[in-house]
Amino acid sequence: MTDEPDTTIYYDDDADEERLANTTVAVLGYGSQGHAHAQNLADSGVDVVVGLREDSSSRDAAEADGLRVATPKEAASEASIVSVLVPDTVQPAVYDDVEPELEPGDTLQFAHGFNIHYGQIEPPEDVDVTMVAPKSPGHLVRRNYEADEGTPGLLAVYRDASGEAKAEALAYAKAIGCTRAGVVETTFREETETDLFGEQAVLCGGITELIKAGYETLVDAGYSPEMAYFECLNEMKLIVDLMYEGGLGEMWDSVSDTAEYGGLTRGEVVVDDHARENMERVLEAVQNGDFAREWILENQAGRPGYRQRRQAEKSHDIEEVGEKLRDLFAWAEASESSEEKAEVPADD
Ligand code: NDP
Ligand code: MG
Repeated sequence: MTDEPDTTIYYDDDADEERLANTTVAVLGYGSQGHAHAQNLADSGVDVVVGLREDSSSRDAAEADGLRVATPKEAASEASIVSVLVPDTVQPAVYDDVEPELEPGDTLQFAHGFNIHYGQIEPPEDVDVTMVAPKSPGHLVRRNYEADEGTPGLLAVYRDASGEAKAEALAYAKAIGCTRAGVVETTFREETETDLFGEQAVLCGGITELIKAGYETLVDAGYSPEMAYFECLNEMKLIVDLMYEGGLGEMWDSVSDTAEYGGLTRGEVVVDDHARENMERVLEAVQNGDFAREWILENQAGRPGYRQRRQAEKSHDIEEVGEKLRDLFAWAEASESSEEKAEVPADD
């Protein structure tokens, strides 16, 4: 017997787009998410005003896309939904500017819960606070919408002052195309903590350290950097694509029996109890706010540690080897079309 998950997923039929018919939405920021939300909302018939700082480099793009542009403060004053789509680290400062424009019954709408969850933004009690977070970068949110396809998303209500917060968030999700694919209901806390943990322990942090550790282990043992690059980084995509399509099972089914047996017995040697304990520590720092405090202070200090780590990552050997090999692969792919077997020339 399988347990049905109790996750609620909302689709187009659950949302009433008409709710936004006489609403002005202020979209603050015209970056990855901002340009997609603004254009999708406008194409869905919603009145949109984009809020950008005076000297914004995005102003021309927004205007070229047929959108009205104002300052964040002006945009918020005429809107009843203010969608905060500037980077998380600058949201508190931008919010300070727009807070005086929020009226009872207005909505502050987010695509990530960080600033609300960690108390960096504290909206007035009579303002709805919602989240519609597409699970995808903005260019795909826009591209899918134009192709009559959807982008899966998350929906959460932090504060329902009006009694209409969820219905309105669903309408917003529909207008940007998310309910076409499905929208999962969550909370600000769950979205924020799982998002941070996932990117730290598994997606961004975990995978890069795993790749580098594997690469270094092979190179230190005398194998060629090129081979190490292919085995530990390049092939990652093939494996991840299979898991994306059909879960772990499709990946195990597709690799050789030797790879399957080796993986099933040796994976847990690498990600052992100690690694799992470390994951728990990473989760704890997310839950108790230590990570958030560290990142907020790092930003206040001008990001010295961040810059230094970025630089170190860029200068890792694997990046140099990879750049060289990816160039060769572009060449190899081009000649495949002429039915030639591409030979990768030895470099040294
Ligand atoms: P971007 O970094 O793409 O935002 C850039 C926009 O913010 C630009 O219009 C820029 O304007 C403006 N901006 C930057 N700094 C300032 C500032 N100091 N004052 C005023 N405006 C500023 O953001 P994202 O779209 O990546 O993120 C927006 C939100 O969406 C975040 O909460 C993020 O967590 C969330 N999110 C992002 C996803 C993604 O894939 N990117 C996925 C899901 C959620 P200018 O042209 O003037 O520089
Ligand atoms: Mg207003």
